[in-house]
Amino acid sequence: MVQTTSLKRRERFLVFGAPAIGPEEIAEVTECLRSGWLGTGPKVARFEEEFGRYQQAPHAVAVNSCTAALHLAMLAAGLAPGDEVITTALTFCATVNAIVHAGATPVLADIDPATMNLDPRDVEARITDRTRAILPVHFAGRPCPMDDLMAIARRHELKVIEDCAHAIETRYHGRPAGTFGDFGCFSFYVTKNVACGEGGMVLTQMEEDAARIKVLALHGMSKDAWQRFSDDGYKHYFVTECGFKYNMMDLQAAIGLHQLRRVEANWRRRREIWRCYDKQLRDLPVTLPAAAAENTRHGRHLYTVLIDEAACGIGRDRFLEAMTRANIGVGVHYLSIPEHPYYQQRFGWRPPAYPHARRIGLQTVSLPLSAGLTEGDVADVIAAVRRILN
Ligand SMILES: *Cc1c(COP(=O)(O)O)cnc(C)c1O
Repeated sequence: MVQTTSLKRRERFLVFGAPAIGPEEIAEVTECLRSGWLGTGPKVARFEEEFGRYQQAPHAVAVNSCTAALHLAMLAAGLAPGDEVITTALTFCATVNAIVHAGATPVLADIDPATMNLDPRDVEARITDRTRAILPVHFAGRPCPMDDLMAIARRHELKVIEDCAHAIETRYHGRPAGTFGDFGCFSFYVTKNVACGEGGMVLTQMEEDAARIKVLALHGMSKDAWQRFSDDGYKHYFVTECGFKYNMMDLQAAIGLHQLRRVEANWRRRREIWRCYDKQLRDLPVTLPAAAAENTRHGRHLYTVLIDEAACGIGRDRFLEAMTRANIGVGVHYLSIPEHPYYQQRFGWRPPAYPHARRIGLQTVSLPLSAGLTEGDVADVIAAVRRILN
């Protein structure tokens, strides 16, 4: 059932993960530039407040990436060299790198192949007497089984740091992702559901954790340093520890504030596209994403299909090339972590030890799923997938 439009290639390349930027963002950035206050200031404070309220979190600290958020969360969790942090074998490298930067040792667990999230049984199997924390990633926006993971954490007295880079709108049993553990880390990278270009946020349950992260994010200068250029006069600061340069700028928050105001509308639009893909690709020999579990809300960040060469007659990598030739940008989220040479050399990890993460890493393709896609764009994606697989 090939439609005639599917026979010709799109004229314009469809950029994967292009953000939907409105006139409000442009006006706020312009206002920010004209005000002369580009750095950390009132817009960052407002963004923290509004994001914290949206997530029903007691404390929110803005930083310049989710990688920075994860790094500082792990330092605030008090991890020391030799401490082990269990995370998933199917994630972006930044999740694992942040553990290494914090001086701890990453330990991988395999995923549940249906949800692509950490398998709690495998997490528990990998606990040793050096395990100090669990770092779940709410993959593609689907919540991890937080009841099970939190029960494990309580039993073994572990900290929990949630990687919510895909999970801004994600809810589990009515509660926002990022508010179950001690820390929730979010990304506002260009392709994420709320985009600032670059940016991140840490949610904490404890006031002292938020305060420590604020100090660490700005050179280790005492807390008031964030306000030191404001109009209530010069304030001396004191360096209380060796911190980092991880603060967010007002220029970034200017974009984020308006992205956040549209977060629900954008989520509904992606759900519409999701349902369209589900319906129009259902008869093909690919594996589509599992339905969202009851009493959860899937953040709908990534729509991933699995291309099994035996069933599809084409391998994943050739499928990627064919989509690109059809002028449609696609993504791979992700090759499993043990496929990368650095981790193999440093930790001795081998892909076959994590069979589910490995197989999905070799078969997965992410189709475009931005709120900015037009009906025509969605039809082009569907037509290209159908043509390639027929
Ligand atoms: C994007 C991403 C990150 C890193 O986010 P940045 O803001 O780019 O640092 C971390 N973890 C996951 C799962 C991601 O997708």
